[in-house]
Amino acid sequence: MNQRDPAFGSVPLHHGPAARRASRRVEVRWGERVVAVGGGAPVMVQSMTNTDTADAIGTAIQIKALAQAGSEVVRITVNSPEAAAAVPAIREQLDRMGIDVPLVGDFHFNGHKLLTDYPACAEALSKYRINPGNVGRGERRDERFVAMIEAACRHDKPVRIGVNWGSLDQEVMARLMDENSRRAEPWSAQSVMHEALVTSAIENAERAEEIGLGRDRIVLSAKVSGVQDLITVYRMLAARCDYPLHLGLTEAGMGSKGIVASSAAIGVLLQEGIGDTIRISLTPEPGGDRTKEVVVAQELLQTMGLRAFAPLVIACPGCGRTTSTFFQELADKIQRYLRDQMPVWKLRHPGVENMHVAVMGCVVNGPGESKHADIGISLPGSGEDPVAPVFIDGQRDVTLKGERIAEDFQALVETYVARRYAAPGHHA
Ligand code: SF4
Repeated sequence: MNQRDPAFGSVPLHHGPAARRASRRVEVRWGERVVAVGGGAPVMVQSMTNTDTADAIGTAIQIKALAQAGSEVVRITVNSPEAAAAVPAIREQLDRMGIDVPLVGDFHFNGHKLLTDYPACAEALSKYRINPGNVGRGERRDERFVAMIEAACRHDKPVRIGVNWGSLDQEVMARLMDENSRRAEPWSAQSVMHEALVTSAIENAERAEEIGLGRDRIVLSAKVSGVQDLITVYRMLAARCDYPLHLGLTEAGMGSKGIVASSAAIGVLLQEGIGDTIRISLTPEPGGDRTKEVVVAQELLQTMGLRAFAPLVIACPGCGRTTSTFFQELADKIQRYLRDQMPVWKLRHPGVENMHVAVMGCVVNGPGESKHADIGISLPGSGEDPVAPVFIDGQRDVTLKGERIAEDFQALVETYVARRYAAPGHHA
């Protein structure tokens, strides 16, 4: 039971996210690599390529970048015979580069044909995503759905039944509208749509089980593009089944809007213990970096205290007390430096991903915030002495000055990491 804060009457006192909703564990495998979804496993980060899958080299290069940024599974669209034919080549190329990230194939309209006609593609993928709204209609719909689930059974692959309000199963929608019209007090069209998404996801998962797919081989998602709709739909799904849930706001949008909308929706659900894997669907800016969606997903999980991926930089926003952009540049430089070091640090310095580094602009909050961090620097604001005290483990340490404050601070961070996060048996 939640504690109640006497000062706030009925407002529950939470000290972190609610206990994770119980879900089944689904394993996504490639070779020795096993990525778990649900069943108490850490919330998994995934992403999707935007290259033409038929371009095997271009796609493999982007998958490598996404995997190196931290994507634990990467999805690719498999939309044509050329794309299906390229999948084994993509997999081989990745294996040659030592990238063992599992691949998920995204199937719509012709997935039944591609999974049957291209068995090497079906085998090279580690999981299939099927959108039941894009499988067809009537009897042919079931035939096609059966063909895809049978391919998953034959190749022993898990499946995500991923419904989307942009391609909602029209037969389910029509049936529920019909039922709704017979209600004494009909639901709103929006409520019927929510129910249709949830019903479609669960009914198709149950149908997949009837065909022979194991209950521990199914993940569900029901994506919409509105924050409140997403929260409502996933609360309903979470209450009505124990399949692991893939969270994501579809068509989240570009830049800050996409990041804010995704974080608002997914953050609320994660706080309630709902969600086993996430994807942030950002529209990249022209020439933008696709790996940004991975960084945002990791930062969302890390700032919520659910996982740690890379040291966090705590930086003040700056104000009239900072007349130069020096501290912004330092914060940016340190943040990049920490992220760039992670592939090596991860192996050599276990636990470094939990480190907090403060970069502060002046004496007002600088020393205080720096003391709370593992290592922090308080730069001089306008009118202050041009010196920058450094705090290590809460204690004031050296004071930096001169032209090389940035380089000197980076060197101090490096020494701190080597000492504090030395691998067992390794002495820096
Ligand atoms: S720490 Fe100083 S520079 Fe940074 S926002 Fe606060 S008052 Fe402004």
